[in-house]
Amino acid sequence: MTQTYGNYIDGEWSEATTGETFENRSPSNTDELIGRYQRSSEEDAVAAVEAAAAAADEWADMPAPERGRILERTSRLLADRKDELTETLSREEGKTLDEASGEVQRAVDIFQYYAAKARDLGGTVKSPSSPDQNLYTVKEPLGVAALITPWNYPIAIPAWKIAPALATGNTVVFKPASLTPEIARNLVECLNEAGLPDGVLNYVTGSGSEVGGVFTTHEDVDAVSFTGSAKVGDHVYQSATGDQKRVQLEMGSKNPAVVMPSADLDEAVDIVAAGAFGVTGQACTATSRALVHESVYDEFVDRIVDRAEEIEIGPGMENPDMGPHASRDELESTLEYVSLGSDEGATLLTGGERFSGDGLDDGHYVEPAVFADVEPEMRIAREEIFGPVLSVIPISSLDDAIEVANDVDFGLSASIVTDDLREANRFVEEAEVGVAKVNEKTTGLELHVPFGGVKGSSSETFREQGDAAIDFYTLPKTVYMSY
Ligand code: NDP
Repeated sequence: MTQTYGNYIDGEWSEATTGETFENRSPSNTDELIGRYQRSSEEDAVAAVEAAAAAADEWADMPAPERGRILERTSRLLADRKDELTETLSREEGKTLDEASGEVQRAVDIFQYYAAKARDLGGTVKSPSSPDQNLYTVKEPLGVAALITPWNYPIAIPAWKIAPALATGNTVVFKPASLTPEIARNLVECLNEAGLPDGVLNYVTGSGSEVGGVFTTHEDVDAVSFTGSAKVGDHVYQSATGDQKRVQLEMGSKNPAVVMPSADLDEAVDIVAAGAFGVTGQACTATSRALVHESVYDEFVDRIVDRAEEIEIGPGMENPDMGPHASRDELESTLEYVSLGSDEGATLLTGGERFSGDGLDDGHYVEPAVFADVEPEMRIAREEIFGPVLSVIPISSLDDAIEVANDVDFGLSASIVTDDLREANRFVEEAEVGVAKVNEKTTGLELHVPFGGVKGSSSETFREQGDAAIDFYTLPKTVYMSY
């Protein structure tokens, strides 16, 4: 029998006031019903914010090492349940078992990292200008943090928002994406079991506009961290900054990988294929454009097409090379972009069709696609597709590559494949992005470095991850103490 799962508000699993639920089905096979989740109302979201506000002082007053111990226990509980969580994530979001396992491990590591950070939390000591005086800073929590997360990394992104928020003494209201409430619920279970006091973390499922609307506007919310689409992100920013909440947004992208003549082409194909087709192209750091020097263009195109055609597609739980799209909407959006690319005059060399047959008809599968002869002004070269679709654009020089790379509304991640140190350094200096990589895929970033973009990719307020996350969730207080 399919289970119905509750919200978690003020330390209790509870039903929404609407009495309504929504279904969560596997994108690998929509016949598989994972569970039913609460279709919460604004009233439920308000109850969550009030619980978080009521718990804020006590949690902030708890010695940071003690908060750290709860995060450490959470990390251990996640690790103990790693195999089960990997399957849950794969079943719910569609990614392959290998991809899901890597993501669960990331959540384990994030909680361990911020457990240590909690112990280390401190300010700076400065030289006072008067005798008999101490001058220093301390970091104080903001209060209540509202965290709104997407479906594409449904445990890692919640982990990298929740862990630093809690480590620094904030309480949390958390709305997971409606496509992936189950793996998020499992994370909440682990935090609860680790000993988090009631009200410190509140999990509310339901519509983005209703639950998210309250979370971004309620006067008791002090900070909002959002990852998702540019359209919703812009709306969140306008709503939340009205009363000067601290806001952080991570949104879309159109990441380029440049391939120069000196590149080892085997390495270049590995780098571009991993970035373009990994996690079914559903990463904000996915490689969407390959900007390839005309002297190696034909050879590169032949090899990347061969690589795309080798990719084995199937249900995430069977651990193929590539799982399905996370939803029918995502699949349809990718298919529409493929059709648009052909209409715009690009040459579709492979893929781009819905993939079905062999028991796959009830899943959201698509063949990885490669377009050649793409012009930089085409929409497929400018708009986020969020699927396994690679546009290969010819470039004539490094200057040309940099101009094309930067001539989009986004700026998250960019890579260059080259053996020329001068080219590498110029690219790193001139790429308008938050993450620049040399001889590396555009995807993947370690948990202890700042993550975020420029232009339409990010609010350009605060970065996520590492020490940057500690800065986002705290305010420094300057202390003068004369004696
Ligand atoms: P959304 O931006 O709609 O959703 C992201 C999160 O915001 C979800 O939790 C969603 O809830 C919530 N939300 C939706 N509307 C509001 C609102 N008005 N106020 C507050 N929160 C809200 O992304 P989608 O899931 O619809 O994906 C659409 C596209 O966004 C993708 O195709 C991709 O291009 C881009 N995207 C980018 C991501 C990235 O990492 N940069 C991640 C995910 C998507 P709910 O799920 O209930 O709607």
